[in-house]
Amino acid sequence: MTLRLRCDEVSRLLSERKDSTLPPAERAKLRLHLVMCDACRNVEQQMGFLRQAIQRMASREENDGDSGKDDDKR
Ligand SMILES: [Zn+2]
Repeated sequence: MTLRLRCDEVSRLLSERKDSTLPPAERAKLRLHLVMCDACRNVEQQMGFLRQAIQRMASREENDGDSGKDDDKR
């Protein structure tokens, strides 16, 4: 068994949000790769940033979605 993941595997796991559903051993490998690899650490940061931005947008839409809907109705 190898401890090394390839960068394309890591970025795929990160982008599909598989990092939170991985078995602990796989996640450890992912973490290990992120510690060693600057490029993938960048990807992870961007993913986290993107995720937060999307969540913020989604919750904002929920909040003023009700008043907006009536305006659109014809
Ligand atoms: Zn990498």
